[in-house]
Amino acid sequence: MRKVTFSIGGIHPHDSKLSRDCKIEVLPLPQTMYVSMAQHLGAPATPIVNVGDKVLAGQVIAEPAGFISAYVHSPASGTVKSIAPRADITGRMVPHVEIAVEGDEWVEGVDLSDTLVTDITLDRAQILERIKQCGIVGLGGATFPTHVKLNPAPGSKAECLILNGAECEPYLTSDYRILLEKTREIIVGAAIMQKVLGGCHTVIAIEENKPEAISAVSEALASLPYSDIEVLSMKKRYPQGGEKQLIDAVMKRQVKSGGLPISVGAVVQNVATALAVYEAVQKNKPLVTNTMTITGDCLPVEKQHNYLFRIGMPLSYIAQVAGGVPESAAKIVSGGPMMGKAISNMDAATVKGSSSLLYLSEGSTRRHPASNCIRCGRCSDACPMGLEPFLLNRLNKAGDLEGLEKASVQDCIECGCCLYSCPANIPLLDYIRPAKAQVMGVIRARAAAAKAAQGK
Ligand code: SF4
Ligand code: SF4
Repeated sequence: MRKVTFSIGGIHPHDSKLSRDCKIEVLPLPQTMYVSMAQHLGAPATPIVNVGDKVLAGQVIAEPAGFISAYVHSPASGTVKSIAPRADITGRMVPHVEIAVEGDEWVEGVDLSDTLVTDITLDRAQILERIKQCGIVGLGGATFPTHVKLNPAPGSKAECLILNGAECEPYLTSDYRILLEKTREIIVGAAIMQKVLGGCHTVIAIEENKPEAISAVSEALASLPYSDIEVLSMKKRYPQGGEKQLIDAVMKRQVKSGGLPISVGAVVQNVATALAVYEAVQKNKPLVTNTMTITGDCLPVEKQHNYLFRIGMPLSYIAQVAGGVPESAAKIVSGGPMMGKAISNMDAATVKGSSSLLYLSEGSTRRHPASNCIRCGRCSDACPMGLEPFLLNRLNKAGDLEGLEKASVQDCIECGCCLYSCPANIPLLDYIRPAKAQVMGVIRARAAAAKAAQGK
């Protein structure tokens, strides 16, 4: 099988897939769940339930508050106890619906059986509406509403749908496990999205360090009635799962600065999103579950897990079921060690995009003191976006926003390759990230002013 990869930069961190052999276990329901109204990209959803209301699992409890927004559903049956702001994993206050769990009674019409449904009977418009109604968002990290991404603007044509099964971040194994355990469902999900996009060529892209997943998908494809879907092996290289890097690897096309994948004919979706699309369209099941990895270098083998969780379960509850937070954990991360977010609040609730509880030891998080830049250029060689991180650092220190924009800081994908490669231990991303946020603010303000001027 041909192996592909992206053309510039990248690094090869140890993959540390310690939980790769842990089968997905279903977590029992807790007594209380907290469902965030801001768990997708775009406007937070608006609650449509009141304190004291009885709700069923899969029932809509909040509606989208704009074009880029998503429905939110109850993850269990019970009573709405409160609707109030609550801290997320970083401590940011976000509106949540608190549900006192009383059972697992579902709304009518949801097929919870394991029977595989391969006939795709809904038409394009019906599929998009079902995906919207079921609150499906991208589960690869961005949480962009899927019905919007699958509906390109008039004049844009999808030539290739790429399903991201790279899971290139060290430690994470939830995508790998669903590729093994929900193989056929993911392929049906891919075929549904292919139908919505007008029957374009479809690639399921998986890194070479997951040969069992590549075999499982290849075998399942041969037994299913779909055409023009292929599996592609990618070289193990971080950040292989980045949207622009995947498009480069698979289509040999580059998305320009500020451009969208569809500008080069590509639509990228994660394999977990494909599974959610299958469940929505073929089973009428809203997005109230996802898979997450419990792992880290300070967890013994028997405490590593892959869990099917209900969205809204508190992290502290999941940690307790998994055997508790290890004493040696110096840092707890949601997501992978390269791009994940440090968790400052274990009472926070899981959201649609939660993918891991990663416990890292002092040894793996210790940073040596930074020294002066020796102008070795390794950060530039490692940058998959072709940027010059040492220059961005210098411009940031000088407060030169114009220079930062000219040097394309807005194209930084915050992958951390520069930081990982720097022999002087300069925490480059710590400086580049806020500089990017500032420049993005300037670009947005300029666009808004231009739009307002046009309207006059
Ligand atoms: S974090 Fe940004 S600047 Fe650093 S390597 Fe990644 S894309 Fe380049
Ligand atoms: S890798 Fe570090 S030391 Fe080398 S040029 Fe970049 S910032 Fe300077």
